[in-house]
Amino acid sequence: MSECLFCKIGSGQIPAKIVLQDDEILAFEDVNPQAPVHVLVIPKRHMEGLSDTKPGDKAFLGHLFEAAIRVAEKKGITDSGYRVVANQGRNGGQTVFHLHLHVLGGRQMTWPPG
Ligand code: AMP
Ligand code: ZN
Repeated sequence: MSECLFCKIGSGQIPAKIVLQDDEILAFEDVNPQAPVHVLVIPKRHMEGLSDTKPGDKAFLGHLFEAAIRVAEKKGITDSGYRVVANQGRNGGQTVFHLHLHVLGGRQMTWPPG
């Protein structure tokens, strides 16, 4: 059985506040929110991060991104704007090695990111 935290959330072994899901993806509230809206979108199947995807994953990546857009709509931040982030690897600041998109909104974001 996988020891991966997000695999366990994806399979329901560890509870999370689910925002939306379908056969392939799950969106849930980040446990340590960095903005009034902070939702993570994950594939239900394990992949470490963006760099773990293949050219054949184009449609899947579009699906993941589209889910982030739907999350923003569901959270009511489409008009005010939001940020979608994927931290990849050490320099990217990734801490959980199961691919995820962060959907952040509800406040003004700053640039450059930290
Ligand atoms: P990253 O640093 O991009 O790998 O992001 C990992 C994110 O997972 C962080 O924003 C954490 O707050 C979040 N996180 C860690 N554990 C949980 C959990 N059990 N439920 C929801 N979010 C989590
Ligand atoms: Zn995993």
